[in-house]
Parts: sequence; structure tokens; C-alpha cells
Amino acid sequence: MRRDRRVKIVATLGPASSEPEMLERLFEAGVDVFRINMSHATHEVARKLHATVRNAEVKFKRPIGILCDLQGPKFRVGEMGGGRAIVADKSIFHFDRDETPGSAERIFLPHPQIFQAIEPGHALLLDDGKLRMRVVERSETRITAEVVVGGALASRKGIAMPDTLLPISPITEKDRADLDYALRLGVDWIALSFVQRADDILLARQLIGQGAAIMAKIEKPSAITDLDNIIAAVDGVMVARGDLGVEMPVERVPGLQKEITRKSRAAGKPVVVATQMLESMISSPVPTRAEVSDVATAVFDGADAIMLSAESSVGQFPLEAIRMMDRIAIEVEKDPTYDAIVHTTQTKPQATGADAIAAAAHAIADTVKLAAIICYTATGSTALRVARERPNLPVIGLTPVLATGRKLAIVWGTHSVLTSDPENLSDMVRKACRIALEEGFAKPRDGILVTAGVPLGSPGATNMVRLAFLDENGAPVAEGR
Ligand code: PGA
Ligand code: MN
Repeated sequence: MRRDRRVKIVATLGPASSEPEMLERLFEAGVDVFRINMSHATHEVARKLHATVRNAEVKFKRPIGILCDLQGPKFRVGEMGGGRAIVADKSIFHFDRDETPGSAERIFLPHPQIFQAIEPGHALLLDDGKLRMRVVERSETRITAEVVVGGALASRKGIAMPDTLLPISPITEKDRADLDYALRLGVDWIALSFVQRADDILLARQLIGQGAAIMAKIEKPSAITDLDNIIAAVDGVMVARGDLGVEMPVERVPGLQKEITRKSRAAGKPVVVATQMLESMISSPVPTRAEVSDVATAVFDGADAIMLSAESSVGQFPLEAIRMMDRIAIEVEKDPTYDAIVHTTQTKPQATGADAIAAAAHAIADTVKLAAIICYTATGSTALRVARERPNLPVIGLTPVLATGRKLAIVWGTHSVLTSDPENLSDMVRKACRIALEEGFAKPRDGILVTAGVPLGSPGATNMVRLAFLDENGAPVAEGR
């Protein structure tokens, strides 16, 4: 089974999509990677979802990715007396260390770090930015704020401090327990929420090791400040537009989406555009024109993947939403302007063998009419560098490592196939031709391009590019044509 598009689709699992039958239909409709959101899933739910995806993988004989998304440090206020209170515009409001239920004038804030890090002038956003305050004074036990935009404040609502760099780890106690559980289940990507700086990635790397690839969710102003270092340190990036649009003015999100996508692509790190892509499809079988345009923009930007959240996890039309994304992506990629627009992002090769080979493969693919680029890849690095070029051809990643195939499920244009390493060069060509044919990418008499690091299995040593042709029976043409 192959997809008719290069961009990948990530779908969040939830009550609307957890049953095996439904999950399988979503896969058939186009999902490449399933996301388990630990803000909502218990360990028991995560275990079931994991098993359901792995069973579907066996059934469809295709590597399917699992992205486990850790909640991260999401701060909340304490209890409000009577459940909620109206906080008036222009009034003065206090956050303190007193656990008694709050009122229109004050509330308990159960996070001592905030009292230490926040400064006068910093913004405080409550309930996804519905209420806005500005700090006028703070001590170790009390923050005094002026209410800029008031409203109803209920118990345990979220609180965000976009101007404050918090001296906290992005990996909370809950995250550590969730991470430990997810790694024992075996997931392919771990997403870190509210990353603030590159050091957060290094800490996660210590905990995760080689257990999974790491994705940084960019949703805080401090992450934008340290973006280059974060991208350098991480394996993949998510433009987490939901919280990004709370922590920063929402009108800045489109420009930031372009910047994050461009920089991630240039670094060859997979980038996922997330949140509200087809939001109205939570309760409607058709999207708004603006949503269709938003999905199209991410595809034209050359993002590796586009993501559904509530649409597929709790929405009424998860299947329709996947099909809609699939159709939009296919149409955009067929558009005559697509190739030129995708290549406005410069991907200058770095001075490595892998990049020299990837750039050569791209140039050859633009010169000779070919059917596919075949990458022998053990860790995925060869396929990643070839995909980074956004060549105008399908990329088939051949790997003996199942985990690599699953990890590559999120990567632009890459179709992974599990296969044992070939014995020698002619076996390598034969196998590449056979798989290109079997997987529906090549026909008899087509040409393919083979890249590899020889000897195979030595990561990062891509050193070979080879042009091969299929004969009228689909077998490789003998040497010397
Ligand atoms: P979330 O992350 O769905 O876990 O909040 C995505 C986002 O903030 O956009
Ligand atoms: Mn978020």
C-alpha cells in the first residue's frame, strides 16, 4: 500500500478513534503516524492504543509511527470559591500561597517557581488567554497583578507566563512516569511540550537515550528565542500553534510557522504543523474554505507532516477529516506551482558525504526521468538527508530495522519497506528494482536511483549513488546498459 502524496498525516487518538476497526479505517484513509496525547490518556489507555496500532501494522504490513506527546509543565491556578468568580477589568488581583478557595480578588497558585521567576511588567494569561493580567509587584509569596482583560475565572484553569523564563525542567514528575511507561511500551517519537531552550532537549536525551526520537513542540516565546539551538539539538519539530497562539499574539503564528518550517527543513529535521487545521470538522463533515487553505499552506511550505488533534480524537467526523487532508495534500502537490514554491526554501548541502550524495540524487532525478529514489538506510539518516532535498520523486527507505521504518513514517515523501540487507552490489540493485516494482512505484522499463552507505549498516556513511533500469519483465537490466 502506498500513499499518493509526499506530505504525511499525523492523527491524534482519542475516544473517536480508539476502536481497532476505526483506527484501521483511519490508517487506510491516510494516517501515517498516530499520536497518543498523555495530557488525556492514562497508562492503561496508552497501552491499549499502542497495541491497536501495532496490530494494525501487522495487518497492513506497513511500518506505522507512534508519537507519544508528553503534557509538559502546564500550570494551573488553585480552587475558586463557588467554582468560579468574575474578575473585573482594571481591578487588582493577587496570586498567593494560601490554599483556601479563591475569590474575585485572589487565588492560590500552587507553583512556587513562578513567584521566584516572574517580574513586574510580565504578562499573565489565564484560561487560554481569555483573561489577561500584568504583574505590578511580586514577592516569594504574592504576585500582584493589574487585570487588563477580566472575565470569569474557574477552578484549576491554566495559567501561562509568556514573558517569563522559568527555572523549571520541561519534564515534570508526571512526564517522567509517562515517559518511562511509553519507553517500555516502545514508541517511535516522544514529543516534549513547552520546550524553552536547547538544554531541555539534552535533558530529555539523557532520559530517552536511543529509546525514541525526540520532537520539540515550539509553543513558547523562549523557544522561539532559542530556536536555532533547539533545532540543532532535536530530531524533529512541531509547530504547536494552539499554545503558541496563546503565549504570543495570534497574528504572529503564521510568520512563525514559516520560520520554524524553513529552519527545520534546512536542518533536515522533520517538521509537523499542528492544531486547528480542520477545526470545524470536529462537528461538521465539511471544512471551511479557510481551513482548506491553511492545510494547503503547510503543504506548499514543504512541511513533513500535517496533524489533526480534536478532529480525530474527539470529533464527530474523524474519517472525513483524514480523507479531506489527504485530498487537499494530493491536489496541492499536483499544482503546477508546487515544485517551485517548495524549493524556495534553500537546502544547501552540508559538507558531508551523505549530503553530497543526496544533492546528487536530487540533481539526477531532475535530469533523467526516473520512478523512485531507493535509500538503503539503517538509522534513517540517509533517507532523511535525501528527503531534505524534497526531490521530485518518491523516496523508498529500505531498512532491516523496524524502528527506523516507523520513525521515518513522519518524514516527507518517504515510504519505508522492511527488508534484510543485500549481500553485494548486484543483489542491492536487484532488490531495489524488485521492491520499487512490488510497492507500485516503478513499472517495467522504468529507471530508479539507488543510494547507500557501503558497507551497509555503518550509520552516516552514505557514499554511493547508482542508476539502474528495469527490463520489460521488471528485472534489473544487466550491467553495462
Ligand atoms: P497540545 O499541543 O495539543 O498538546 O496543546 C499542540 C498545540 O499546542 O498546538
Ligand atoms: Mn500545546
